Amino acid sequence: MQKIAILTSGGDAPGMNAAIRAAVRACAARGLASVGVRRGYNGLMENDMQPLGARAVANILQRGGTMLLTARSKAFMQPEGRALAAANLRAASVDGLIVIGGDGSFRGATALSEEQGIPVVGLPGTIDNDIWGTDHSIGYFTAVETAVEAVDKLRDTGASHERTFIIEVMGRHAGHIALDVALAGGAEDVFLPEQPRELSEVMRVVEEAHQRGKASAILIVAEGHPGGGAAVQAAIEQATGQQTRLAVLGHIQRGGRPAVGDRILASRLGVAAVDALIAGQSGVMLGMQNQHIVQVPLRQTWENRKAVDRAAYACLRVLSV
Ligand code: ADP
Repeated sequence: MQKIAILTSGGDAPGMNAAIRAAVRACAARGLASVGVRRGYNGLMENDMQPLGARAVANILQRGGTMLLTARSKAFMQPEGRALAAANLRAASVDGLIVIGGDGSFRGATALSEEQGIPVVGLPGTIDNDIWGTDHSIGYFTAVETAVEAVDKLRDTGASHERTFIIEVMGRHAGHIALDVALAGGAEDVFLPEQPRELSEVMRVVEEAHQRGKASAILIVAEGHPGGGAAVQAAIEQATGQQTRLAVLGHIQRGGRPAVGDRILASRLGVAAVDALIAGQSGVMLGMQNQHIVQVPLRQTWENRKAVDRAAYACLRVLSV
């Protein structure tokens, strides 16, 4: 192993830069060359790669987004696109590739490794935390922190006006962000895609909260719950005649300075990815389970669906009494 390429792909996530820095510095420390690939898989197919030395990644640890840029690529979903990518990697004498991205990126990484025989290691980089095989993904801690800050602010207004606030958070088809934001933000209830609920039930939630002496309520809705926050709002207003407020937090959850948890996770996994490639590993994701670094076959990371934490959900129900 003499040269490793690094790319970020799919949705950006805070901490991707920290992972790039860690991988580049680990290459330098182990005496390997590293190259950065720009715009994800597009850069592989367009041969858009640049050498990265240890100093090239100074001052990025604390920055959101990704210095390598990210993109989505239709062409890479075809075998011809992946063959071109593999040919470019071989021509550039790259012996191993680190892909930082979400489950879509990992499907691509699996195909590249299985079809083309390129040694590939994946690092989970997505705010959604919907990657099976790792407790957390890079970006998740920051997204939850950002959303909770917003919830705290909206609660001030909700409490002052005695209004119900419905707050829609990101997470695509997964409810991990919603559940943790609900717990940390003290929400009265949460709506998760993993557990779609009848909207008629929403009215009961708000009424019961009122009866228990709550003048305002915060309801967290995952964007993947049927109809998102707007459907929950419409159901409440229709059933109760009460005015409510809807806040869709959207992309502010994707950016910003990475939280400490994401920086540490990215740093640990970035170094481990280089060591895994040196050790001859391929077709695996490196993740963290119970504070230990683990290797999980890439295919398993997207073939399995990570469940939301039932115990956390039960805890929320106790706390919103
Ligand atoms: P994320 O990695 O954040 O889940 P996407 O789902 O958009 O983001 O995937 C990123 C890129 O990974 C896609 O644009 C595509 O190039 C590649 N990809 C996704 N799914 C596949 C697949 N089934 N086969 C090959 N490549 C894929």
